[in-house]
Amino acid sequence: LKGAQARLGELLDNARHAVAFTGAGISTECGIPDFRSPGGLWSQNKPIPYDVFVSHKAARNEAWRRRFAMEEAFGGAQPGRGHRALARLLSAGRLAGVITQNIDGLHQASGVPDAHLVELHGNGTYATCLECGQRYELSWVRERFEAAGGLAPDCAACGGPVKSATISFGQAMPEREMARAAALTRAADLFIVIGSSLVVFPAAGFPLEAKRAGAKLVILNREPTDFDDIADMVSRSEIGDVLGPFADQA
Ligand code: NAD
Repeated sequence: LKGAQARLGELLDNARHAVAFTGAGISTECGIPDFRSPGGLWSQNKPIPYDVFVSHKAARNEAWRRRFAMEEAFGGAQPGRGHRALARLLSAGRLAGVITQNIDGLHQASGVPDAHLVELHGNGTYATCLECGQRYELSWVRERFEAAGGLAPDCAACGGPVKSATISFGQAMPEREMARAAALTRAADLFIVIGSSLVVFPAAGFPLEAKRAGAKLVILNREPTDFDDIADMVSRSEIGDVLGPFADQA
């Protein structure tokens, strides 16, 4: 562990444009399960694909039921050591940006400014109509969902399906966020993957792109990934343990 911390510190010292790329693993110590670890969300509920959400009312009811159940279970989660370390590294000018696949809002909560944060898979804290783009707060959805006994509300303006502002499997990626992530990646000389199984594409393409463009690649992940062989450093220690000290230093 000490070796990993020292090596990471050295790589950060020598980097001019370090970028962090985070997945669900950075939030597990905050009590939010990831997808693919044993007992993770994947083993409990298979995600609802985008086309099923759009075409089946029952799928929308189920998606919102799960969303509010998650809110009950994890709504009070606070940033962990990994989030705090990244916020600290950013404010100290040692990190250029954070690209996240997470939708839990914990990078913002730890103080990473929006200008340095790319949320590739959207944000679960509000909803939009898929037809007309009208924005709804979760409280608006929840009131109607509960009043109707568990039926997903449709858009008050156009009747279209209302979906949390996150990207589902099969849904188009947000263009602006993809472009911002690509720019950060191209400029990176150090690219640090933190808590991602690296199996969800196109997101998982960024570490590969960074490596191809000449960046050093670091992978902090409990389980092996397909990219370990091309990484310059791999640590399987707990993310919070590795990054913890960076939360306390400049
Ligand atoms: P994933 O579940 O596929 O992979 C997480 C990886 O993190 C696993 O390989 C696991 O071994 C590792 N890990 C978990 N806890 C760790 C710890 N404390 N220390 C070290 N390693 C740890 O997650 P993914 O690659 O991010 O892909 C899943 C998709 O689902 C993403 O789009 C993600 O945003 C979404 N998701 C998000 C959340 C969230 O917002 N917190 C939670 C679950 C899933």
